[in-house]
Amino acid sequence: MLVRTDKLKKYFEIGPKQQLHAVDGISLEIEENEILGLVGESGSGKSTLGKTLIGLLPNSGGSAFYNNELLPQKFSAADHLKYSRELQMIFQDPYSSLNPRMTVLDIVGVGLHIQREHTKKQIKEEVASWLAQVGLNADHMSRYPHEFSGGQRQRIGIARAMIIRPKFVVCDEPISALDVSVQAQVINLLDELKKSMGLTMLFIAHDLSMVRYVSDRMAVMYLGVLVESGPADEVFFNPQHPYTQLLIESNPEPDPTTERQRSHIPIKGEITSPVNVKAGCRFASRCSKTMDICMNTTPAITKISEKHTVACHLFS
Ligand code: SF4
Repeated sequence: MLVRTDKLKKYFEIGPKQQLHAVDGISLEIEENEILGLVGESGSGKSTLGKTLIGLLPNSGGSAFYNNELLPQKFSAADHLKYSRELQMIFQDPYSSLNPRMTVLDIVGVGLHIQREHTKKQIKEEVASWLAQVGLNADHMSRYPHEFSGGQRQRIGIARAMIIRPKFVVCDEPISALDVSVQAQVINLLDELKKSMGLTMLFIAHDLSMVRYVSDRMAVMYLGVLVESGPADEVFFNPQHPYTQLLIESNPEPDPTTERQRSHIPIKGEITSPVNVKAGCRFASRCSKTMDICMNTTPAITKISEKHTVACHLFS
């Protein structure tokens, strides 16, 4: 097991005695060279989980392990330096995640520069090599982010993460800000890098079809908790949790003709507040199968097949 969390929590203080439970006791495991796809609506806590997992945010409880080593609750500067060699993140927004005042050479080479183990010449050679690997060329080194398209900027962000040769990468919605035509290119690039570098990934996205295509396993998050996880095809084609079923029903079809003919079932109902959360199922206010027990007892995670789990009272 390369990455593991045990009841990992991230709460934000938002007022007197008010805590927003963005990540509320998540336990997951990611095997070496595996891609775990993480899906859920905006605000479900996916990005916060990714950032907390690799120490970009201090956790509020529980634990995270990398290679069986307990990660610090709050990373010091020395921890960031140590773990940035192994743990990296590709950010969602290729427009705001690159410093507009830095050249591509400085952006992509920043990780090597911080390590202080390479000469300027070596950094330049490595940057040129990585620009080539992500489909850009060495001439781009002296340019600034505004001179590139969204897809090219995302490639720069990927080169910046990969130049360190990390073992584990959190890809936080790496394609959501890109045109559809460019999305496939970036996904194929990540797939090639995964194979050539033996990467392990947490792949966060909205698009369930894309997550199914990219991932070995899929986990579904709702208001800070995992509600279903299992092999990607099994969760996609045989979803069991009422929330996963609605998410997949509302996922757009890639074929525009089929999409136009399809009846949409919107997810209705008030979303439960993630502030000072009480016991009970967090999806109860929107679920068509709510029972009395759902209102005041939090559903436990139940195994429904060897690798498929669901947190719902219909299965407990
Ligand atoms: Fe619906 Fe109850 Fe299952 Fe929650 S626990 S998803 S409310 S049936």
